[in-house]
Amino acid sequence: MTDVVNDVKTVLRAEHLVKTYDEGAGRVDVLQDVSLDVRAHEMVAIVGASGSGKSTLLHVLGLLDQPDDGQLWIAGEASNGLNERKRSQLRNRALGFVYQFHHLLPEFSALDNVAMPLIVRRLSRAQAREQAAHLLEQVGLGNRATHFPGQLSGGERQRVALARALVTQPACVLADEPTGNLDRHTADAMFDLLGRINQDLGTAFVIVTHDPALAALAHRQLHMQAGRLV
Ligand code: ADP
Ligand code: MG
Repeated sequence: MTDVVNDVKTVLRAEHLVKTYDEGAGRVDVLQDVSLDVRAHEMVAIVGASGSGKSTLLHVLGLLDQPDDGQLWIAGEASNGLNERKRSQLRNRALGFVYQFHHLLPEFSALDNVAMPLIVRRLSRAQAREQAAHLLEQVGLGNRATHFPGQLSGGERQRVALARALVTQPACVLADEPTGNLDRHTADAMFDLLGRINQDLGTAFVIVTHDPALAALAHRQLHMQAGRLV
């Protein structure tokens, strides 16, 4: 097994991922031999019933959870065997995340929420804010920089969360039900934005969604069924 996938066009490769929960309530085979390739610039949708393992898969792909078996490469780097510090570095370097609930920090402005991943990377506050302002422009919120999350609408908060996910220029953004908490009209606007960012910035996306309209926008749709991608 090689350490590096010599194909720079593959931003994420998973082979034979297995994940089982075996707790008091009994054994659950959440991921059963899941393999997946995501190419640079690609937008992949994962759809499937509640409880089929979509969030677990996204957590494993995002190095937030460890598989029991299988191999995973992120931006060409093998994640198996990395210690927690190296995993965090790889995650911070190559991936961005958007969740159903925005997880913005309420006591920070939109600008500082977006700047946060760059502060974590030890950029100066001025540089971090400059890049954050640019990303807020990209998601159409240049005029909301000084607003706090509590002063923004649901759709605006998700756009700030997207800007935060993009500010480190990740190869791939993993999004778990990014429109799950939005009304139809706002969700549609978010889809358009995701598609435009994908085209303009070339960011690859893996999007878990219940929404057939969003899934239809992706280049590929994968179906999760009882722990398997079909
Ligand atoms: P989805 O996102 O498709 O709704 P999840 O990945 O959240 O599905 O969950 C898949 C299955 O794994 C469910 O049956 C769920 O109950 C189970 N599960 C998820 N997390 C845990 C956990 N920490 N411990 C035990 N079972 C879990
Ligand atoms: Mg889920």
